[in-house]
Amino acid sequence: MPEVLHRLSLLESIIGAINLGAIVLDENRSIVLWNGWMARHSDWPAATVLGRDFFEVFPELQHKRIESAITQALRDNFQSLLSQTLHKSPFPLYSPGATESEERMQQAVAVTPINLPGVPRHCLIQINDVTIAVGREKLLREQTLVLRSQTFSDGLTGVANRRQFDVTIEKEMRRAMRTGNPLSLLMIDIDHFKDYNDHYGHQQGDACLIQVTAELAAMLKRPTDLLARYGGEEFAAILPDTSQAQALQMGEAIRRHAAGLRIPHEKTGDLLKHITVSIGAATQNPGQPLEIAALIGAADRALYLSKRTGRNRVTAQPV
Ligand code: GH3
Ligand code: MG
Ligand code: MG
Repeated sequence: MPEVLHRLSLLESIIGAINLGAIVLDENRSIVLWNGWMARHSDWPAATVLGRDFFEVFPELQHKRIESAITQALRDNFQSLLSQTLHKSPFPLYSPGATESEERMQQAVAVTPINLPGVPRHCLIQINDVTIAVGREKLLREQTLVLRSQTFSDGLTGVANRRQFDVTIEKEMRRAMRTGNPLSLLMIDIDHFKDYNDHYGHQQGDACLIQVTAELAAMLKRPTDLLARYGGEEFAAILPDTSQAQALQMGEAIRRHAAGLRIPHEKTGDLLKHITVSIGAATQNPGQPLEIAALIGAADRALYLSKRTGRNRVTAQPV
């Protein structure tokens, strides 16, 4: 075989074998090359499309981004890459093994001008199957979301953890500074919980924590309110745009609700023989110097006072 013919047939089998769709259009947008990949993924053998107008074969692509890409290649000698996020699946192509009813293959499409001496300009359309890569990317994104939510929630109770508390209080403090609205904080601690554990066992202690947490979380209705597990059996409620009077009201509702659960606790050493909580409240008012540590310190002091003056009560302290 003469050298030139040999090279030509070699090229032809390479084009037929490559793992990429290749379509070549002449200056009139007629299909002059349609490789084996295209035949396999479209169910149209080359013989059925060669010589036909590209948009007669793919009428749905008319007036789409790909049409302007072809015009730019043939007329302006300009290469285009179709954005994968804007044009997921322009061609009606399906991954091998997929049926018509399944989703189209996700495609990365490039349109490139082809210049040969003495011949009007052609253009090459390359199509890459990126379904697997896109699927993997989606999975990674979802896993990232799950991981992020785990990073910010408490493993036992499912509410926000200390890290989320730190981020949120910081954010709400800055927002309070901007808006000039008050910001309140409640510190909530279960009474005699060590004795509960000692008497009922750690597992029942955990179950009690889970139940009390769910009940408290359900009481915070505003989307900007946040209940966080601050430490072992101590919780913090961040209440934006909430005055001291409103915070005390909220604290009192929480205290009453917790006691109302009537979770038996034989060893309180008090008259009450059920689980109760003590609460400390503090409010950062507009015009005050804004300090997170001062707000937390005041709520802590208030909680300590609630404990010292008999537990199962709500106390406020100035920041
Ligand atoms: P007080 O009324 O003064 O708050 O008394 P207390 O016994 O509750 O005292 P303190 O708050 O210091 O006790 C915390 C106890 O909470 C210690 C620990 O046994 C228990 N605890 C902390 N985290 C967990 C947990 O995740 N699971 C269980 N079961 N118990 C916990
Ligand atoms: Mg306690
Ligand atoms: Mg405690």
